[in-house]
Amino acid sequence: MPHISSGAIFRENLQDQTDLGKKAAQYLERGELVPDDLTIAMIRDRLERSDCRRGALLDGFPRTRPQAEALDTMLVELQGAVKLVPYIFVPEDVLIERLSGRWTCRAQGHVFHEKYHPPKQAGICDEDGSELYQRDDDKAETIARRIRVYLEQTQPLIQYYQQRGVLVQVDGTQSIEQVSESLLKVIEDSGITL
Ligand code: AMP
Repeated sequence: MPHISSGAIFRENLQDQTDLGKKAAQYLERGELVPDDLTIAMIRDRLERSDCRRGALLDGFPRTRPQAEALDTMLVELQGAVKLVPYIFVPEDVLIERLSGRWTCRAQGHVFHEKYHPPKQAGICDEDGSELYQRDDDKAETIARRIRVYLEQTQPLIQYYQQRGVLVQVDGTQSIEQVSESLLKVIEDSGITL
């Protein structure tokens, strides 16, 4: 199943200096949300590709109520539906520690953490040997703004999906392996085949 990360697509476009990248740059730098129309069009394009015919894993989308409603409309056209929304919960202090210690691989976005998942060699990706960098929006001031934006614009979606009976909470304070295991179990229990 394809893994579609809206943030990763924005970062790729930023790196490649595309029109979309140029339009999104200022929002990513400030830790604010890219406007809904741009984000929705980008996800629609991606979901219409043939590799999504059997489904997709959306990561970082939807983040606002209009995005969630647009997704519903898109999925009616594509004869799909939101089957499962895993809500990985961690308290704010843990979240800040996770983001501020995160190192991301320049080539493919593999993720490391200086304390919880350190690379074998500092600054180098274990998977593909490329450089690791700290995302600009993982700086303390921007993290604080991203959390504020999340609480205002994204948190209401918990209730939106809870009412549909598709939201399942996963304890994100566990180890990486345990979180993966819990996620796989939740997916298996929902009857989705990967
Ligand atoms: P992420 O990698 O998911 O943390 O996203 C990084 C940044 O990309 C966010 O802080 C936003 O600026 C932008 N972004 C990612 N996904 C969305 C979305 N669904 N709606 C609006 N902006 C987004």
